Amino acid sequence: MDQNVVAEHQRISLLNMATCYIGIGSNLGEPIAQAKQAIAALSHIDKTQLTNVSSLYGSKPMGPSDQPNYVNAVAKLETQLTPIKLLDALQHIELHQGRVRKDERWGPRTLDLDILLIDDSTIDHPRLTVPHYGMREREFVLYPLFEISPDLTLSDGVALTQLIQACPRNGLEIIDNA
Ligand code: ATP
Ligand code: MG
Ligand code: MG
Repeated sequence: MDQNVVAEHQRISLLNMATCYIGIGSNLGEPIAQAKQAIAALSHIDKTQLTNVSSLYGSKPMGPSDQPNYVNAVAKLETQLTPIKLLDALQHIELHQGRVRKDERWGPRTLDLDILLIDDSTIDHPRLTVPHYGMREREFVLYPLFEISPDLTLSDGVALTQLIQACPRNGLEIIDNA
């Protein structure tokens, strides 16, 4: 291909890139290994690059408390996929790692992959709400996100540091490298 054409393709590709943050959670089936396997899987999603990932954190369960503690992390991706195609890819990874969808909300799971943010986009689709509706109050999202993007400001102008200040750690601690 002509070099100018290649350069033009690369320029268009860059313009179509979206920066996304993914929340990772697991509390069944060796959660540390599940989280690490999920991070490896994120790095292999089509048209997507994994550009950063937080440490692994141990957290207390949200909702039903008669379940094991969680391992959480946040990953940063650059993707050319549409938001729904990205959700499809994440749900494929969840299923591949043995996620069984049950009726109990916030029950134990081998893997949960939630889209937290996609650039400054607001998405209100039957399958996808972005920003993730719970991210502002969840310590296991905010602290790992802060580790990799301390200067982040949400699209409404609220700084991540402000959200962190209002969110106790609730026992959250770093337990491993990603
Ligand atoms: P929570 O969303 O409160 O963290 P959860 O992660 O356990 O709970 P899931 O069972 O993983 O919930 O997902 C339920 C549905 O949420 C999915 O089928 C998906 O279509 C939808 N969904 C809506 N917004 C998002 C998002 N931002 N990221 C991932 N899934 C989402
Ligand atoms: Mg979730
Ligand atoms: Mg989920």
